[in-house]
Amino acid sequence: MKEKFDAIVVGGGPAGCAAAYTLAKEGLEVLLVERGKFAGAKNMTGGVLYGPVLNNLFPDFWEDAPVERHISRQVITFLSERASLSIDFNSAGLDKPPYNGFTVLRAKFDRWFAQKVEQAGAVVITRIRVDDLLWDKQQVVGIVAGGDELLANVVIAADGVNSLLAQKAGLRGRLSPEEVNQGVKEVIKLPRETIEERFNLAGDNGAAIQFLGFCTKGVHGGGFLYTNKESLSLGVVVQLEALIKNNLRSVDLLEGFKAHPTVQELVKGGTTVEYSAHLVPAAGWRMMPRLYTDGLLVAGDAAALVLATGRALEGMNFALASGVAAAETVKKAKEKGDFGKETLSYYEKLLAESFVLQDLKRFKRASQFLEIQRIYSTYPDLACSLAERIFRVDGNPKKTVWQLMREEMKGKVSIWQLIRDGISGGRTI
Ligand SMILES: Cc1cc2nc3c(=O)[nH]c(=O)nc-3n(C[C@H](O)[C@H](O)[C@H](O)COP(=O)(O)OP(=O)(O)OC[C@H]3O[C@@H](n4cnc5c(N)ncnc54)[C@H](O)[C@@H]3O)c2cc1C
Repeated sequence: MKEKFDAIVVGGGPAGCAAAYTLAKEGLEVLLVERGKFAGAKNMTGGVLYGPVLNNLFPDFWEDAPVERHISRQVITFLSERASLSIDFNSAGLDKPPYNGFTVLRAKFDRWFAQKVEQAGAVVITRIRVDDLLWDKQQVVGIVAGGDELLANVVIAADGVNSLLAQKAGLRGRLSPEEVNQGVKEVIKLPRETIEERFNLAGDNGAAIQFLGFCTKGVHGGGFLYTNKESLSLGVVVQLEALIKNNLRSVDLLEGFKAHPTVQELVKGGTTVEYSAHLVPAAGWRMMPRLYTDGLLVAGDAAALVLATGRALEGMNFALASGVAAAETVKKAKEKGDFGKETLSYYEKLLAESFVLQDLKRFKRASQFLEIQRIYSTYPDLACSLAERIFRVDGNPKKTVWQLMREEMKGKVSIWQLIRDGISGGRTI
């Protein structure tokens, strides 16, 4: 083991691997430390990896990386207890390279990425948990792991949502329940042909379905179903505070979701082969900690760089982009021979110039909008009951959609409330 590294990266998720790979490719001495048996061993995501960041690192990565299906079909489904109403978007425009997003299974994907990091020249060690930071006065100068002290000019904390290191450095406090969502997910195995037939997919095309309403028993959160090559990823993501307040457990919500008539049809005949649970930062800009200090940069979930607007959950692309920005900053600091916070502030500048901070800032009020309870209960129920009445032919004289809508809304929500929520949603998400 070297006496001193240019950088030690803690965490072998997308943020840590992107940082370590970028640095190693430039010939810097890098150590990546991952606590899992291998990178990705316990990692979890929904998961669709959106955007072009990975393609910038590995052009045409889908030919080599263990990605599942590229997403050409996006569906939003409102669920009431017995019914569902979907908005189904299927586009040939999303069906060609460079694709808009891929489903991934993290155990395979992170492992592949960590191998790339190693091939680029970094030292990758697994099964080692980093316990602390090493300090020289106010400056981080390394890590303490497994009883050993390892030195580096800079440490990149990419240790995920609970980031022990960002807390130890005093950059952030403990997470509060209204800032994080808890996700639980099953991977359900099905034959490839069944998936393609059931979801109307050809070849490696994939579908991403977001659910709202009954899947969370009407509390703050949603459900998802993503198609992999030979499995489905099915899960719910619920605000931790809502779970506590309503005395709910995500595992029970997932069971109820799976038993819904619409979902039952989609997963029938499948076998659950994996079960996982994880937290995800959900309050975006509002919960973002300080991103750096002398000798330390914080990337990915550790810095709460996740966009949760209700449109989609984007964390992996934010993790990748922040990992790359952290690496660019270390390269610059090495050229200057200075690893103090003034030099490392370049990291924040890079993120501010990219989609990472621009998106988080633009959608900073989304988390307030998502606090509106009606989104998870009243509106999905209303959408389904209205659709049922529109489509039902029962021999009675018919009413216009407007009449039916007024009747269905009565006692549930006023027209002004609906308009106000619509405008607020349009503005914030
Ligand atoms: C249910 C759910 C659904 C999601 N869906 C999506 C989606 O569809 N699309 C999307 O883009 N994002 C999604 N996300 C978010 C996405 O998974 C995260 O934003 C992303 O994984 C963050 O990457 P990261 O590298 O920052 O952290 P992580 O992936 O959490 O990696 C952190 C790594 O650090 C390691 N580690 C932690 N502490 C230590 C330590 N002390 N020492 C050594 N190693 C350590 C961990 O083992 C882990 O490998 C979802 C998240 C959840 C929970």
